[in-house]
Amino acid sequence: MDVKTNGDISFWYADIGGIPRKRPPLPGDREADVCIIGAGYTGLWTAYYLKKADPSLDIVVLEREFAGFGASGRNGGWLSGGFGWSRDKYLKTSTRGAVIDMQRAMAGTVDEVIRVTEAEGIDADIRRVDNFTVATNAPQLARAREEYQFYLDWQMPAERLEMLSAEEVAKRIRIANVQGGFVIRDTARVQPAKLVRGLANVVEALGVPIFEGTAVTRFEKGRVETDRGTVRAAKIIRATEGFSAGFPGEERTWLPLNSAQIVTEPVPEALWREIGWEGHELLGDAAHAYCYAQRTREGRITMGGRGVPYRFGSKTDVNGKTQQATIDALHAILTRLLPQTKPLKIDHAWCGVLGVPRDWCTTAGFDRSTGIGWAGGYVGLGVSSSNLAGRTLCDLVLNRETELTALPWVNRTVRKWEPEPFRWLGVHSMYQLYRIADEREFAGLPHTSKLAALADTITGH
Ligand SMILES: Cc1cc2nc3c(=O)[nH]c(=O)nc-3n(C[C@H](O)[C@H](O)[C@H](O)COP(=O)(O)OP(=O)(O)OC[C@H]3O[C@@H](n4cnc5c(N)ncnc54)[C@H](O)[C@@H]3O)c2cc1C
Repeated sequence: MDVKTNGDISFWYADIGGIPRKRPPLPGDREADVCIIGAGYTGLWTAYYLKKADPSLDIVVLEREFAGFGASGRNGGWLSGGFGWSRDKYLKTSTRGAVIDMQRAMAGTVDEVIRVTEAEGIDADIRRVDNFTVATNAPQLARAREEYQFYLDWQMPAERLEMLSAEEVAKRIRIANVQGGFVIRDTARVQPAKLVRGLANVVEALGVPIFEGTAVTRFEKGRVETDRGTVRAAKIIRATEGFSAGFPGEERTWLPLNSAQIVTEPVPEALWREIGWEGHELLGDAAHAYCYAQRTREGRITMGGRGVPYRFGSKTDVNGKTQQATIDALHAILTRLLPQTKPLKIDHAWCGVLGVPRDWCTTAGFDRSTGIGWAGGYVGLGVSSSNLAGRTLCDLVLNRETELTALPWVNRTVRKWEPEPFRWLGVHSMYQLYRIADEREFAGLPHTSKLAALADTITGH
């Protein structure tokens, strides 16, 4: 499938007039109370809540490229209130009640992000919508039912959930071969780059300088070294999620997992009438290599998925350029779910990295002995989780013991990923098995393919 643009960070920047001009870099050595590395959602939410909590704090943000260069300016715009991942793994170090508290706190990020954007005048095309998971074969439907039941068992409020028949899904979005699906209510759609750029402007206006074009080369207790000078700060936050493997000592902490998207040209009104999708729902499926889609403000469709999952040695893409095979795979998913979109051109394709811890469960933390904190490994759910991370890191930096700092994701220790080539082999086999499992299920396998379970075992998913 041909695309007009591949890379250029993401379509979300083309949507707002192009890649932004960089703010000035760090002018030389300086001191600060708090030094934040990375100007994505995590770094910026942390700066926002800290400065609001204590306006006298001297906070600096250091960013290698520009605010929103990473996943925060490239994602699918699902403000889902979900988090990564297995409740049972969190249970190993906490209680069921605490995990449910965490689930509630994560769900609360939807309202909180909307509250702040409204209070601060950030226009990020936010719209409250439902989140649809659809099934297009029998094993997917069985998994959708299990997932629905899983949320009920974990006490997600019943009014937020609904199982839908094939007819009920089709009434809202005309998906080919749909067998049913389930809805999670109280989620939202955002334009990711507008959110991160808006947040950066707000943080800057609060008096926090964001030094762009400033690469951090190493950091240790009290000291952050960059290619532009050194910042001495008692508190340091590493907010570099999928890029964290670039720091000495962090090479195997979070695996930079790739995710990619394509976006159609604006869909003509007549075609929208065929497709439906009037509720602008966040749309995903119950495949093993699942997809995620949104209907944008101006009426395009974005379709995202895994593509080539991981680059050897934790390498990251160059400016969001993705492989042709990934573009073709995403286009195949789009036209399988919505064959009505076959005549549409694809305007843009791009990719980015998100962070994955070895146990696929997200963490936030702060080491009081070094004054160094971190948050990430959101496993593809960082639009929401990063907001809770910002509020939690704020409390941790200010040495406050609060409901947030008691949540089970705080200061968890997770083992590291294997060295290469085992890391590459593990992740590639996992997604290869997922793909074969999906194909077998589409070919008529009546139950979930055992290969998917094998894939989960290989990488601890
Ligand atoms: C394609 C894609 C789709 C996604 N879709 C969704 C979705 O729909 N919903 C959802 O909830 N989540 C989604 N995610 C995940 C989510 O976007 C991320 O988890 C979240 O944006 C992470 O924010 P962050 O601030 O921690 O990291 P990032 O946004 O990646 O920011 C890290 C920043 O650190 C900077 N940096 C890196 N190294 C250095 C250095 N040495 N010195 C200085 N600065 C440095 C980078 O330039 C970058 O700006 C998606 C991710 C991708 C890639």
